[in-house]
Amino acid sequence: MSRCAVLLVAAGTGVRFGGPVAKQYRLLGGRAVLWRTARTFLSHPAVGSVRAVIGPGQDDAYRHATAGLALEPPVEGGATRQESVRRGLEALRAENPRLVLIHDAVRPLIDADTIGRVCAALDRGPAAIAAVAVIDTLKRSAAGENTSAGTVDRAGLWRAQTPQGFRYGEILEAHRAAAGADLTDDAAVAERYGLPVALVPGNEDNFKVTTEQDLDRAERLLRADGGETRVGSGFDVHRFGPGDHVMLCGVAVPHDRALVGHSDADVGLHALTDALLGALGAGDIGQHFPPSDPRWRGADSARFLRHAASLVAERGGRIVHVDLTLICETPKLTHHRAAMTTRIASLLGVADHRVGLKATTTEGLGFAGRGEGIAAQATATVRLPFGQE
Ligand code: MG
Repeated sequence: MSRCAVLLVAAGTGVRFGGPVAKQYRLLGGRAVLWRTARTFLSHPAVGSVRAVIGPGQDDAYRHATAGLALEPPVEGGATRQESVRRGLEALRAENPRLVLIHDAVRPLIDADTIGRVCAALDRGPAAIAAVAVIDTLKRSAAGENTSAGTVDRAGLWRAQTPQGFRYGEILEAHRAAAGADLTDDAAVAERYGLPVALVPGNEDNFKVTTEQDLDRAERLLRADGGETRVGSGFDVHRFGPGDHVMLCGVAVPHDRALVGHSDADVGLHALTDALLGALGAGDIGQHFPPSDPRWRGADSARFLRHAASLVAERGGRIVHVDLTLICETPKLTHHRAAMTTRIASLLGVADHRVGLKATTTEGLGFAGRGEGIAAQATATVRLPFGQE
């Protein structure tokens, strides 16, 4: 028997969003809304297992959204939220947890403290939900009217959030008894069954993402969280061979030799690509573009750098700065520096001032000093939102 199982209700079709993608699968800070919700529960010490209840036909979206997370197999939901939860609860019978937390997948900013408060309250009673006291003055209007017909006393009024936590056996029986009753949350199911429901403080940030405006608000809150700064480094060398120019930082520089490599041998762009991949912990250029793959023979290395930049964007991050040093005796690069800087900035989608570019010699020492090839070393500084793996 696990301590506490979590059911994420993710079966909505997102009709209020009006778009083709249900809101639990929309991106928030570069990750699916469902991914963010699931990850917070998976990393909570009180939680034993997490599974989602998803809508019919959402299997592909679900798999894509939750890749890499250690979730239990999803359950297919029903026609209503209540029916979806009941199916989820039935699917937990084999696991038979002592407690179950039921949470809307579209409340991605759920925090560990709220989860902890709901769990703690279940030591004292069979049901507890996160809730926020109503602060605004409430008005009532006649149905279909927008004129106030009076003020509602807000004393003792709460807005119910999730997670809503229960002793498993009791909420399963309550849901079975409530089949077809059309209740809007699980606390109502528990109340109907006669279970006392404790109210514990929720969090204003734990709101339900229902509209585009909600999604924007969640993005702003994630950004305000500050995120983290990552620095990656890259290094590359290519030897000289016959030719009449070298490709450096995406610019053809006339020379009496060329650089030899499987691709266009742009040593500068290769070092930058590795620096970005390094900041993401995403392997190296050889893993993404294997030299054994004939597709990359003679390839324009701009493609490699653009790929690394797109991985940063996919993670909801941004490139703060890159810095590159080219190491060679010849060709002299002074006159090409501006063009190279602009080319790198354009490939990364950043302003020129976010690109550092330097060239140096090794005072005649070593392979670079002997004119056998060109080396490049790079660093990349990247900002990523919190909540990255
Ligand atoms: Mg290389």
